[in-house]
Amino acid sequence: MKARNVYLELTRNCTLECEHCLRGNKEVKNMNINTIEKILKDFTKINCLLLSGGEPLLNRECLEYLPIIIQKYQIEVGTIGIITNGTICTTEHIKALQQLQRYCEDFEFVISCDLFHRLEWKRLHIEDRVEENYKRYQEYLPVRKYQENDLYHRVTIWKKGRAQEISEERFKELYKRYYVEYQIREEEENSIIIDGDTIKGKIYFDVNGNMRDYSASFQEEDELSQERYNIHIHTLKEILENYKQDFQTGKPIQKVIPS
Ligand code: SF4
Repeated sequence: MKARNVYLELTRNCTLECEHCLRGNKEVKNMNINTIEKILKDFTKINCLLLSGGEPLLNRECLEYLPIIIQKYQIEVGTIGIITNGTICTTEHIKALQQLQRYCEDFEFVISCDLFHRLEWKRLHIEDRVEENYKRYQEYLPVRKYQENDLYHRVTIWKKGRAQEISEERFKELYKRYYVEYQIREEEENSIIIDGDTIKGKIYFDVNGNMRDYSASFQEEDELSQERYNIHIHTLKEILENYKQDFQTGKPIQKVIPS
């Protein structure tokens, strides 16, 4: 099986509590190595493997185990992408990330500096620590900052999780104070396209090994999880067959638009 984009929710835990977090409140729950192995073992090629969260660096065990899986199943990986909130940097993390970098063609390691993250760093008085972490990572890895200065940026956020609670007044205040215009979007489109042995869209597995076709809050993931899409119950091939069948009968993974 080949895929353009595979997203793995490595953890639901996080070190921040950003206002715009579409995931909702954090949970102390990590994807385990058994789940990762079951998901990845049938892939021969992945163009982009994105490790998401929560804060993905909180699942160091999986970061350390990923190179073993990639090697064991001879998976050709183009890009490995990790977006971190910048709060974690230990020697063990640097070593794990350096090792991971050797198993892909392109390593995209990004510290997200959007306004809501910066407001969290400020609230927790950790701005200096994040900057130190960035400098330390720079010594060992290709790392970049994203949206370091988002003056006049127009940013889209999804109306899920904590982002549902942001009021019109708060958006106006953010625009007045920081000149950042946030647009709220209700839903993402289905994104899995199965073409022979190739998945052309985005395939996403949550922390419990449930496949989805779009980003959701943790609560939404749990409410809509089905055995038909769980990697501990079905193989990847069976899950994709289930998806195809459901799609043809007009009932792919059901979506709920938060009220
Ligand atoms: S937006 Fe990211 S860093 Fe912020 S609380 Fe959510 S998962 Fe954590």
